Amino acid sequence: IATPMHQLIARRQAEANKQHVRCQKCLEFGHWTYECTGKRKYLYGPSRTAELKKALKEKENRLLLLQQKLIKQCRKKVFENIHDL
Ligand SMILES: [Zn+2]
Repeated sequence: IATPMHQLIARRQAEANKQHVRCQKCLEFGHWTYECTGKRKYLYGPSRTAELKKALKEKENRLLLLQQKLIKQCRKKVFENIHDL
């Protein structure tokens, strides 16, 4: 028969064990994966992250160039229209 005292001891032991448990989701200690409230951590290497950042930066640069090109074209049109007046 599990007395309240036994239950308390069992609970304390479980809590103590939990301190050494590592969550497989957020990789923090002190809780189980199914108890996790944190965000999942992906173990990407730094090189992959850098590559992704580089690709994003190149995309941004391309968009910026396109934008500048469009602005130039617009200005040109405006000037042309002024000459027509
Ligand atoms: Zn977690």
